[in-house]
Amino acid sequence: MKKEQTKRLNAKVVLCRCPSKAKDGASSRLFGIRIEERHSDWVRTWAFKINEDNAKREGYITERTTGSLSSTDDYPGCPYCGTHRFAQCSCGKLFCFQHEKQDSEKITLTCPWCNQTGDYHSVKTVHVQGGDL
Ligand SMILES: [Zn+2]
Ligand SMILES: [Zn+2]
Repeated sequence: MKKEQTKRLNAKVVLCRCPSKAKDGASSRLFGIRIEERHSDWVRTWAFKINEDNAKREGYITERTTGSLSSTDDYPGCPYCGTHRFAQCSCGKLFCFQHEKQDSEKITLTCPWCNQTGDYHSVKTVHVQGGDL
């Protein structure tokens, strides 16, 4: 009997933090980005708010993933501030940011995960790695 090759959609969720201040005073806000494998690349298809307890329970960000993480037309942007932009800190975590300048310009950002401040350039490929919240 021939084994049927069903092409399963390859998708997972990576965690991202929004540095914009919440009205209720919470310091930073967590959200999940759903990424999907398309044509040997990983693209962002959806973003949703998530709290830390749920994120821990779901065990997101456990696998290493490499891709452009470009956004699809359906990608709604950060659920808190609406931006499509995001950066990756040297700690390996992702966070969104809003910036007016051109992509080629160097920008200074502070990571809401570890509070490191660094210079960023736009990146073509992102390596997402697992880790603790
Ligand atoms: Zn945001
Ligand atoms: Zn960091």
